[in-house]
Amino acid sequence: MAAIASEEIPDAEALTAFFTAVGYPEKNAKKYAKSKKDSIALYGTLKEAGIDYEMGSALANLVYEVAKSVPKTHLMYRPVVANMVKDAKLDTKQRISAASKFLKKITPPAELDISKLEEACGVGMNMTDDEIVTLIDQIFESIADTLQQERYLFGIPKILPLVHNGDPRAKWANGGTITKTIKAKLEQVLGPRDERDAAMAKKNNKAKGKKKKEKAEKQAKGGKGKGKSGDGEEKKDYDDNASNKFREAARMEKGFRNTEEMKKKHFEITKGIVRTRFPPEPNGYLHIGHAKSMNLVFKGAYEMLGGVKGQCNLRFDDTNPAAESTEYIDSIKENVSWMGWKPWCVTHSSDHFDTLYEFAERLILDDKCYVCHQSGDEIKACRELRQHNKPGYESPFRNRPVEESLKLFRDMRDGKFKEGEASLRMKIDWKHPNPCMWDPVAYRIKHMPHPHAGDKWCIYPSYDYTHCIIDSLEHIDYSLCTLEFEVRRDSYYWLVDALGLWKALQYEFSRLNIEYTVLSKRKLRQLVETNIVNGWDDPRLPTINGLRRRGFTSEGINAFCDDIGVNRNDNTMVEVARLHYWIRWHLDTICERRMAVLNPLLVEITNYEEGVVEEIEMPNHPKDKSFGTRKVIFSKYVYVDQNDFREVDEKKYFGLAPGKEVKLKFAYNITCTSFEKDATGKVTKILATYDKNNTNKCKGILTFVACGKGGLNDKPTSATINLYEELFTVPVPGANGRKWTDDLNPNSLTTVTGYVETALANTKKQNRFQFERLGFFVGDDDCTADNLIFNRTLTLKSTKDFGKKKGGK
Ligand code: ATP
Ligand code: MG
Repeated sequence: MAAIASEEIPDAEALTAFFTAVGYPEKNAKKYAKSKKDSIALYGTLKEAGIDYEMGSALANLVYEVAKSVPKTHLMYRPVVANMVKDAKLDTKQRISAASKFLKKITPPAELDISKLEEACGVGMNMTDDEIVTLIDQIFESIADTLQQERYLFGIPKILPLVHNGDPRAKWANGGTITKTIKAKLEQVLGPRDERDAAMAKKNNKAKGKKKKEKAEKQAKGGKGKGKSGDGEEKKDYDDNASNKFREAARMEKGFRNTEEMKKKHFEITKGIVRTRFPPEPNGYLHIGHAKSMNLVFKGAYEMLGGVKGQCNLRFDDTNPAAESTEYIDSIKENVSWMGWKPWCVTHSSDHFDTLYEFAERLILDDKCYVCHQSGDEIKACRELRQHNKPGYESPFRNRPVEESLKLFRDMRDGKFKEGEASLRMKIDWKHPNPCMWDPVAYRIKHMPHPHAGDKWCIYPSYDYTHCIIDSLEHIDYSLCTLEFEVRRDSYYWLVDALGLWKALQYEFSRLNIEYTVLSKRKLRQLVETNIVNGWDDPRLPTINGLRRRGFTSEGINAFCDDIGVNRNDNTMVEVARLHYWIRWHLDTICERRMAVLNPLLVEITNYEEGVVEEIEMPNHPKDKSFGTRKVIFSKYVYVDQNDFREVDEKKYFGLAPGKEVKLKFAYNITCTSFEKDATGKVTKILATYDKNNTNKCKGILTFVACGKGGLNDKPTSATINLYEELFTVPVPGANGRKWTDDLNPNSLTTVTGYVETALANTKKQNRFQFERLGFFVGDDDCTADNLIFNRTLTLKSTKDFGKKKGGK
């Protein structure tokens, strides 16, 4: 049916009569008839739909909507839309608006794809009120914990996206019913709003106000905000639109969409709770790069998706028994938990070896996989030919009969081939621009048992074959991975599509790189195996075990991960100062203060009585009284740090020097009267007097550790103290063509024997303290009461500032 031309339109009076007759109130009929634009559009639409009878006000309104919304340029398609309205396929304003949006994307006179139009308008996607209530009940179940914590702060704006995510039909359902149902349910679960809600709203508004202020300030500074570390790097935080951006950015290849049926089944399984996974290969220890990934998949992804807790599986991607071991599996589990994450469940790709095998046979029967006898080198040579567009690049086994491949694959499984004699390959596309599509290997032979699956198999699936299938079997919503996997997205979707499985959305983000260290398992292994460091938990390593032994906290590491955010900028180096900022930030809030001396230098206080010991009460935390106090002894013999003494005084120097008065922190002012040296010229002892009344205000304040009642026969508690510098001397080890190992810092570890105050005598491993003026320290994993060992986590500030401010260096 063609569109109506304006010369066919009756006059205003006849039009009014016609519009009234088909169901418009007289007042409206008159109004439409009077307007040239309205009358042409409405009359045309009615004619196109063949409506010349009283149709009822609901349909009349919808027809008017069509008349109004189809653009003039697209009138040739209006008859289709008008008839869909008449046939009750487009039964809401929302569907009509979706239809006109769809039309606007077409350039006339292109042919209209009716099924796509129907899909775009959600035709047939109907939900009864009962179904809406059931869906909302399920969603409330999934957010029960969050609701108890956040109450009305987790209101309709946050729940609505979950409803829309939860069932694809919900988008087309009656919005009023949905909102009303959510509102009623909120009241049923939480009761009326009370003072808790008022307090939370107040706090929230305050936080919002603060955020707004910060944003405004940032803009005022020219839009370039600084990271919280103040290190000049722009802070890339999740912004308000992150959830939308995130979803948009999650990528799925065109044409590889989930069907409505799949989406429905997916929802039945997940109940609309977003699922992610953390999939380490158990072939090494986790490092801080994995901490970034975990922060995203266990928490950040849900925050970006609207604040609902989701389900994140810890999945061991264990398809290569040659590199994997239970030692790694156990340490990964432990590390995940130490980082504060609770997997929804722990799974192993190898748990699915039977299913993966069945799928492989199915693919062979569908002629989508074949057994190939090319060696690794031959496959490589073929790829090179293909790269140069030379003939002969396909495997000569590619087109062998299906039955032959099936038999040979079973032979592979039954151990009839040696390693390398055969592999199963996916028959994808040698012409594809992406080399990952050039028939990647699905199965290879490895005559060895598997650390988790035992000795059942001698063929093992590849990463490319396994990862996407397991994402489907576990009904993952978002398959988040680092950017190097972007090129493998094509084969990911090809395979799950070939098997008709659920497709997760893949989203890639950049790997974490930090200055002065390396974050590759291969390089870390080399450092461990060549004894450059002392094992995987050496405090100089960026492994989770190393960082923990060094005294870093999971809270500090996660705060750092929040600060750097997630983006797709490849090859950026994060300043190590930024990580340290967040570790200090957290340690400052949890560590009690103590006194220690790293390089002890004896001070004899000549006017203090021998054999007397005073106990001085000192605060455990200068900013937080709840940490309480402790008693620290003071006597005639105290030790200060070698670095805090100079033989010759200087103007801007605040440490101890002959004739100079300084304060011993929380104790007395002392004045150096003379000092002694040994034969090598090393200062061995300082003689000083003390002022019981602390008459003068001293600029220099030194820390000290005192001997007990027995004087020099009663020395303070001694301890081994490990001091660290960065593991490499340059920010990017191996840059500019150097060997990365040539950049190792020979001074990355210095060990000294110092004195610590008595309160530290029972330090256990992982006990953390701030040693006044010296930094944060932690009891080493080998620390015992008989053999005290401390590791310096970090100095209090970056060393540059520390020396200048205190003048002690
Ligand atoms: P490596 O290259 O160091 O061996 P990997 O990528 O093989 O690391 P897996 O244990 O397989 O490490 O990875 C588990 C997850 O952690 C993956 O999703 C991976 O993308 C992610 N991941 C690994 N390294 C980093 C990093 N430096 N930054 C962010 N995420 C990382
Ligand atoms: Mg890997």
